[in-house]
Amino acid sequence: MKYIITFLSAFLFFQFSAQAQAFKCGTDQSDAFMEDLIRNKKNWDNTMQKAQVERFVPVQFHLIANNDGSGRVDPRTVLKSLCELNENYDSLELRFYLADEMNEINNTQINNNPGGNASASAMRNAKNNAAMNVFVIDDSGEGVAGFYTQGGDYIVVNQNQLLLDRHTTEHEVGHFFTLAHTHRGWEDQPYDPAIHGDTVLVTTVNSSQSPTIGVELVDGSNCGNLGWNNPLAGDGICDTPPDYGFGQRCNCCNMGWTVYDRNGDLIEPMLNNVMSYSENCSPWNFTPQQVLAVKTSYDSDRRAYLRVNEVSDYTPLTEGSVIVSPMNLETIDSYNGVLLEWESVPNAEEYIITVDGTVANEYRTSNT
Ligand SMILES: [Zn+2]
Repeated sequence: MKYIITFLSAFLFFQFSAQAQAFKCGTDQSDAFMEDLIRNKKNWDNTMQKAQVERFVPVQFHLIANNDGSGRVDPRTVLKSLCELNENYDSLELRFYLADEMNEINNTQINNNPGGNASASAMRNAKNNAAMNVFVIDDSGEGVAGFYTQGGDYIVVNQNQLLLDRHTTEHEVGHFFTLAHTHRGWEDQPYDPAIHGDTVLVTTVNSSQSPTIGVELVDGSNCGNLGWNNPLAGDGICDTPPDYGFGQRCNCCNMGWTVYDRNGDLIEPMLNNVMSYSENCSPWNFTPQQVLAVKTSYDSDRRAYLRVNEVSDYTPLTEGSVIVSPMNLETIDSYNGVLLEWESVPNAEEYIITVDGTVANEYRTSNT
């Protein structure tokens, strides 16, 4: 029990309604980006032969504010986002946990122009080298929801994208573990029936995020099975169906067009793929080969720094806290202090008590 002045405010776990505004991801998917995926493919067999194994990912969050301290995301939103990340990677048995206390940085440059050289330098210096680093900022740039940078090896996410049903954080984590867009190459000019027609005849595409690459075919003949020196189309993964930017164009979850590739094969894209663009398509999924790519990336030398073996049990909370006393909206005679009491939550290590009102405050305790 904890004797604390004022009252306990319960967390509200709700989904913010999705915004209609179209956002995109700013991750560069050049040949250099794709090399890790291609290199790791030869180890996919090893990954498949491993017993089911949980992989624990330490995450270092950096909460960015302006120079004067304004504009920082609420840490509770980030915690909820971490829970959501775990839920959405549950089928992969990838478990994310806080590597350390959230790091607060006041830097207007990072907050509003994270792609600039000064910002990149500051973020590199702030990194926790034993964790996946996620910088939660105000604005990544015009229409950009977030990005992963291979050079800096960190993730940037706009704070207003957290907890939306487009899963920007999950998407950027996919990039972190070598996945490319299912519609790689189509980002600047996604499928448009007026331009591309019912049968898409163009053979190559490129975008500001991708070099010129082949247009992926339904029959899988150019999807990346042949290795790096052969034409690589799409995302380099063969069980993700061709995606000519359909989700990005329609912002929808069901294919509204009947479109054939240049062989005349009907295209059936997977619009609820985490590495596609769409809105409100839960449940979002990965294909089996994407799962293999993520796990193999985690097991690779490049990601050895994540495997610190600090945590070996995944014990998510399945119940919320229940307040015992005082009851909600109950009036307390005492004015010097209020005794707060709540039922212990199985597996909870710590409770955060937030105090609203003119003197807002926050308390942490492992007691109830
Ligand atoms: Zn992306």
